[in-house]
Amino acid sequence: MSKEKSKKPKKETPKPKIGEVDKRQIKLLKSVIEDLINKQSVEIIDLLAGKKNVNEFAIAEKLKLTINQTRNILYKLSDFGLVSFIRKKDKRKGWYIYFWTLDIFQSLSLLEEKLKNKLKVLETQSHNRTQGRHYLCTTCSIEVNEETALLNDFICPECEEVYELSDDSEVIEHIGKNIDKLKREIILVSEERIKQEEKIGKEKQRKINRAEKEKQLKR
Ligand SMILES: [Zn+2]
Repeated sequence: MSKEKSKKPKKETPKPKIGEVDKRQIKLLKSVIEDLINKQSVEIIDLLAGKKNVNEFAIAEKLKLTINQTRNILYKLSDFGLVSFIRKKDKRKGWYIYFWTLDIFQSLSLLEEKLKNKLKVLETQSHNRTQGRHYLCTTCSIEVNEETALLNDFICPECEEVYELSDDSEVIEHIGKNIDKLKREIILVSEERIKQEEKIGKEKQRKINRAEKEKQLKR
């Protein structure tokens, strides 16, 4: 990591630095954590995003959790490939300390996958809704499809009340709205994922160029 203090260029659009994470990404990354762990743990993103090898004791302290609680979160994230670690032996105490790094690309990929699965479920629901009618027992609040209603002679087997034809239009509209919202979210996440992929590619190329240069200097 460089320690140089670069002077801020005036009136120039700021170039994104390596490791810099924008607010939109932070928000998305936090939603991954909320989905996988819980709402209380989302702060871990503020501590890990844009950094490398963060000391787990520092994470525990900031999250106000015990070291074991903190490790449990990190291990879980590690199972999904969202974080990686290096460990170093504390020479005085003789135990290992783990240092954690967030994989933004993996996190965004997982989020994208989860959202796409949700979309599939909603699309199936929407499809089922538009296929045939549905019937409702208003007493039991149980809804059945046309086939089941027919088998029951349009009478609820629980309370023997006659089924009512349920109005699907509202439900279909509701699902439709959710589908649109999810699709917009998926586009957003996929854009960020691609951005991250490009960033990794550029970093790799820079490393290759640097190694090339060094090789030439040695000749
Ligand atoms: Zn009933």
